[in-house]
Amino acid sequence: MAGQVKLLRSKVLLIGAGGLGSPAAMYLAAAGVGTLGIVDMDAVDASNLQRQILHSTERIGERKVDSAKKTLTSLNPDVNVLTYDVRLGADNILDIFSGYDLVVDGGDNFPTRYLVNDASLKLGIPVVHGSIFRFEGQVSVYLPHRGPCYRCQVPEPPPPELAPSCSEAGVLGVLPGIIGSLQAMEAIKVLLGIGEPLAGRLLAYDALEGTFRTFRLNRDPQCPACSLPKEQLVIEEYDQLCLPHPVAPPPVAMPVAVPVSA
Ligand SMILES: [Zn+2]
Repeated sequence: MAGQVKLLRSKVLLIGAGGLGSPAAMYLAAAGVGTLGIVDMDAVDASNLQRQILHSTERIGERKVDSAKKTLTSLNPDVNVLTYDVRLGADNILDIFSGYDLVVDGGDNFPTRYLVNDASLKLGIPVVHGSIFRFEGQVSVYLPHRGPCYRCQVPEPPPPELAPSCSEAGVLGVLPGIIGSLQAMEAIKVLLGIGEPLAGRLLAYDALEGTFRTFRLNRDPQCPACSLPKEQLVIEEYDQLCLPHPVAPPPVAMPVAVPVSA
């Protein structure tokens, strides 16, 4: 009962109402999280419905945030759904993030993840990260200044040709369903202060192998984001990360990861 009251008073912001955001938002609404904010600037598209289960064929062409609000409020009318039909940028991210207890990042590109990371450090808001690539998915939790951040884990994004979007790479809808559900679980743990959140750990799921592995993530003392006092952290765009590299790309920095269990 105490946990349920706590959830009702909680405010969670979801980045994206797509493959990861759909299951995460539905389980958070069903669990009774009182306020759910959703940032997405796209419209419902038939080609995404195999994974974006917040939406349906009748809503093709509708704004995704409006479609998400309809589904979530019919699932649980007690949930206050706030929508942001905007592109998340350096100019609006701090205003949008302010007042939220936690961010569930279901974004599908590196510039947004870096922006989300820096804004969450600045405001001290935990982030539950999820990402998918082909048949693999990853989940981690970043507690600001209490563990590694996303930029400790991924100091430099891979070149664009190695980081295709879902529509380019193709993805089986069940996979983001699993990863988004894990994100909802981690979000509830952090909100309630129960269990061991995946902070400083990366949970990796290989759908084809049918295995989960946990890797330890270390905080980088030289991290350009979380080693700075939050007053000195400048929120800026990372759109240049998406530009093609004019010369041979630098080697992709791998996360400092040690398997702790198979
Ligand atoms: Zn860091």
